Amino acid sequence: MKKDINSSRTPLYRDSGFELYNASETSGAFAAEAGHEREPEKYIYSRYRNPTVVAAEEAVMKTEGCNWALLTQSGMSAIDTALSVFLSGKETRPWLFFSEIYGGTISYIESILKKRRGMDIHYFAPSGERYDLDEFEKAVAEIKPSMVYLESVSNPMLIMADIREVIRISKMYGAKVIIDNTFATPYLCRPLDIGADIVIHSATKYFSGHGNITAGIICGNDDEILKSAIEYRKFVGHMLSPDDAYRLQSQMLTFGLRFRQQCENAVKMADFLEKSEVISRIWYPGLKSHPTHDIALKLFGANGFGAMITFDFDGKNPGNKRERRDRFIELVSGEIKLIPTLGDPHTILMPVEAVWGAKYPEPGMIRLSVGFEDYRGLEELVSYALDLISGV
Ligand SMILES: *Cc1c(COP(=O)(O)O)cnc(C)c1O
Repeated sequence: MKKDINSSRTPLYRDSGFELYNASETSGAFAAEAGHEREPEKYIYSRYRNPTVVAAEEAVMKTEGCNWALLTQSGMSAIDTALSVFLSGKETRPWLFFSEIYGGTISYIESILKKRRGMDIHYFAPSGERYDLDEFEKAVAEIKPSMVYLESVSNPMLIMADIREVIRISKMYGAKVIIDNTFATPYLCRPLDIGADIVIHSATKYFSGHGNITAGIICGNDDEILKSAIEYRKFVGHMLSPDDAYRLQSQMLTFGLRFRQQCENAVKMADFLEKSEVISRIWYPGLKSHPTHDIALKLFGANGFGAMITFDFDGKNPGNKRERRDRFIELVSGEIKLIPTLGDPHTILMPVEAVWGAKYPEPGMIRLSVGFEDYRGLEELVSYALDLISGV
């Protein structure tokens, strides 16, 4: 068969192993592989590196504006890989995690880092609904962590961290900084530009954006970090499959369009919900009433405020709040489904109490992931449901 097919895109290479032709080429390829380069001289084995995955990584690098990006099978494996970079057998300094981070990350810390590895882990909690930077500096000075880990926008209260200051303070005390930027995406801010050492994303969410891929991203600018992350991903086997990489790359072509629309829809929805009499409180960083609205303005500028909204139903008592929540979920369920993820094309929701019970036990709370569907129909449906709920 003719080998040059003049396709304009990198094809889907499903090979597990690549042909090396002879023994000297084989030894050369394996010797070069020890250097853990981002793009290898010769492809050897798809768990190490795969050309379709490398092509998708280059698309991520453009979107993120960074020197390198690596793809993994999930957001969690991206987190595991990112943390491994700062893991050393000689490590004696603790790690400091912000407390308002993804529940799966907390489970990972508790079950893997603390229980299995016996690591010395500290949490930094907000004072009320805002991180106090003086308290943070005190904590860093006292704990002397080698690594600080946080999310630019927290879940489900959407607390924004002033990452510029967090990075500055952490560096002053010699700590590396990893930022999970899943909720903000590079559309709203790029923490690597202001000194973060590693940024990770769950590409399951906005990057792939269609609720049909599980994938993770690690990106950075430092070459030593890159090599260490490549080595870990290779030996642990966190590599993304070529099929998912191919689809991720295609779906990323519309990332900016989708996310812009999601942010626009969310601003309108937040304004609309704020006027409702059956809602007692709404959390959206774009609203003046959000405790960290000023940080959103400072970090995101005019780009938008993200597409996650959390609100709480008003009610006579917890039972009434719960009833209103359940009725709402039922009334909108034809269009707004209860799906435990975020960043899907359509607006989806989660009852906060059912997921975060111990931490956020408010029975009336709902977290919305606003989609990029036509806004008018969305508001009509929510408006209809809220009208009926006022009688519950
Ligand atoms: C979903 C999510 C993760 C984990 O990603 P998976 O793709 O589910 O492994 C990590 N961080 C945040 C903020 C998330 O929303």
